[in-house]
Amino acid sequence: MHVHSIPMWTGKGNNYAYLVTDEPTKHAVIIDPANPPEVTPELDSQIKSGKINLTAIINTHHHWDHAGGNDEMLKHFGQLPVIGGKSCKSVTKVPAHGETFKIGESINVKALHTPCHTQDSICYFMEDGDQRAVFTGDTLFIGGCGRFFEGNAKEMHKALNETLAALPDSTKVYPGHEYTKGNVKFCMAVSQSEPIKKLQAFAENNQQTQGKFTIGDEKLHNVFMRVNDPEIQTVTGKTDPVDVMAKLREMKNAM
Ligand SMILES: [Zn+2]
Repeated sequence: MHVHSIPMWTGKGNNYAYLVTDEPTKHAVIIDPANPPEVTPELDSQIKSGKINLTAIINTHHHWDHAGGNDEMLKHFGQLPVIGGKSCKSVTKVPAHGETFKIGESINVKALHTPCHTQDSICYFMEDGDQRAVFTGDTLFIGGCGRFFEGNAKEMHKALNETLAALPDSTKVYPGHEYTKGNVKFCMAVSQSEPIKKLQAFAENNQQTQGKFTIGDEKLHNVFMRVNDPEIQTVTGKTDPVDVMAKLREMKNAM
């Protein structure tokens, strides 16, 4: 499995599209190609040089800065399946929670429904031999999580601390935006633990953090995945994990 990040709207939304290629067959999918002018040149060049055979568009959720490029992509590349949540533009296939499919012959994909940021949010867990990755859209960020636009703290708690936390700790995290600097500032305001300090140092020295941290790392440095930590409970003044989640989101929104 090869993951190629394509930053979009750098300095504004700081989004990422991801090109995921099955190396033996060259079958490839493009995840959240929301700004085609920044995505198509790379894909055109890889198609022309025989490096990829584009087989699908995948969306993590319906927001315009994730699924808003679908129609232009279909116009440019011809009819392709659009795999995503039910409200994604021109979607042709909505995988059920836990449904699996393949990219080429080696990449196994599992769709994980994680409603909250939007009700149609889906994370995609991919495995190829001992390589593991999860594409989390605006549900899980490095050191943070998405806003609860269409859901509540109970849903985000389930998404992060049940669904995503159940993935192998070695799974690399590829979020929909580069938000790590802002997220770590909030984490530091809540707790100055060693893992959070380490994340802060990394974010200061690296413009891009996608794919550099795992689910195991997030469980240590992401305060939204530490709702059972007595320190986080003291800071929020709550003990119930859902209440801790709600309070953390409220504090982050106010920052
Ligand atoms: Zn979004």
